[in-house]
Amino acid sequence: MTALVSETRPVVQYERVGVYKLLLDGPSPGTLRQFYDDTMKGLDEYDAAHHSSLVETLEYYLSHRCSIKDTAVHEVVHRNTVLYKLNKIETITGKKLNEEEDKLDILIALKIKKLFFRTERRMNRRAIVYIINYRQGEFGMFTYEMPTKLYFGKGCVAQSVADMAALGKKALIVTGRSSAKRNGSQDAVVAVLESAGLGWVLFDEVEANPSVETVRNGAELGRKEQVDFVIGIGGGSPMDAAKVIALLCTNDLDDEMLFTGPYGAPPLPIVTVPTTSGTGSEVTKISILTNHKAGTKQGVKSPMLYPKLSLADPSFTMGVPEHVTIDTAIDALSHAIEGYMAKDATPVSDVWAEEALRFFGLHLTQLRGTLSYAVREDLMYASTLAGIVISQAGTTLVHGMGYCLTYYRGFSHGRANGLLLPQYMKLMEESMADKAQRVWELLGFAGSDDFEAFMKDLMPDTVTLSEEEIEKFTTMVMKTASVKATSYDVTAGVVTRIYAHISK
Ligand code: NAP
Ligand code: FE
Repeated sequence: MTALVSETRPVVQYERVGVYKLLLDGPSPGTLRQFYDDTMKGLDEYDAAHHSSLVETLEYYLSHRCSIKDTAVHEVVHRNTVLYKLNKIETITGKKLNEEEDKLDILIALKIKKLFFRTERRMNRRAIVYIINYRQGEFGMFTYEMPTKLYFGKGCVAQSVADMAALGKKALIVTGRSSAKRNGSQDAVVAVLESAGLGWVLFDEVEANPSVETVRNGAELGRKEQVDFVIGIGGGSPMDAAKVIALLCTNDLDDEMLFTGPYGAPPLPIVTVPTTSGTGSEVTKISILTNHKAGTKQGVKSPMLYPKLSLADPSFTMGVPEHVTIDTAIDALSHAIEGYMAKDATPVSDVWAEEALRFFGLHLTQLRGTLSYAVREDLMYASTLAGIVISQAGTTLVHGMGYCLTYYRGFSHGRANGLLLPQYMKLMEESMADKAQRVWELLGFAGSDDFEAFMKDLMPDTVTLSEEEIEKFTTMVMKTASVKATSYDVTAGVVTRIYAHISK
């Protein structure tokens, strides 16, 4: 296998000390643990030396400028105040800070120093929010919506008794054919329903990439049984099916209206219980169905489809087979990357995208074999974050092109995305160089060639597409919204070239 990653990839398997890559321009910190310990020691020593004034600290920083321990400051305030102070320092000392970058680096150091102390010397994810936002420049107008109440963590389903009881008296449980019965998720949900005195009925016929016909069957059962709410347990397929079943329980929609709306009545309340770490459907407002009439997969999208409640327990994913672990993780990675690069990306979605990417960076090389709970937990956390990202920013060309590979060639959703992602990143390196670079930093790759080598090893599938197929797929893709959502001038030639590349 080629050298997969740059030397800076963290070697500690499970470590949540976070923002080191933002801090260091200097040499690799070695392991994260080592870096963390060194940093804390450095801060203590620095405190002992008691550099009392900001001016002194600034000079100290400028003379060393290599790591956080050289930049400790006791005084941290709002960004503008700090900038004001820095400008004042320039006036007083006659020392000119050359670049805006210097100031930002100092700001970052100041902020981190403060967070170290405020959070009792433990890194806090919020730190990353602030730090990254400082790097964004001016924000345009954006919205943020995430109405789903999320419980996350081992045993979280049992915490939801009151939440479930608030949704009605009887639930329709929607699952795939078998996995929910084996991984403990269905039992955990049923236990909650029964302890709340609620009735339930089971629809366990959801296939991978669920069809319109399947969700219609589920809705028929839901209506007949007069259920009050719908619980989707499983990978993206049952969760997506549950969403549209809930919609069809309250709306009579023909196949065309189903995909376009408008939807008169809100759906029954939706609950999601993910058992793969991939789609993020547990927190999204979209459901992807196989529409045989259109000959592809299509989305039903509406803010009304946001689940009311999502119960994400990583322990349900412990027995996920290797190929599903890989495919679903790469689907989630694709969400984080595409959402980050999308035209509709927002400052808030970027924060979650970078955080999701950081977690993928820790574990991408560990997707094979037996995974520890800690890794499973990180993967579910990252995929849920990536779901929040696509709920704000949407997916782009990778998903648009991937649906044809799934529908016509039977590749799983995540694998289809994984086959296309490296070539997509090549486009992004052209049009979104800064963000592409940030992706590589967070994931620990040197660039798209390095990433492509890694992905070829992870997904060594061969795809052979005829010229006619490529032309047909290209025509279909060019009609989808994914083209416009992509931060690149996507022409039919670009799509054809990517399909041809993966079909070599
Ligand atoms: P999936 O189709 O839901 O499940 C794939 C396979 O994994 C099934 O055989 C399933 O078995 C099995 N499985 C699920 N959980 C398991 C567990 N804990 N242990 C062992 N096996 C398990 O796969 P997915 O990748 O999660 O979902 C893909 C679908 O989601 C696609 O249709 C895709 O288009 C869609 N998607 C939706 C969104 C969104 O925002 N709504 C985003 C991306 C993708 P059973 O069938 O027996 O359960
Ligand atoms: Fe996806």
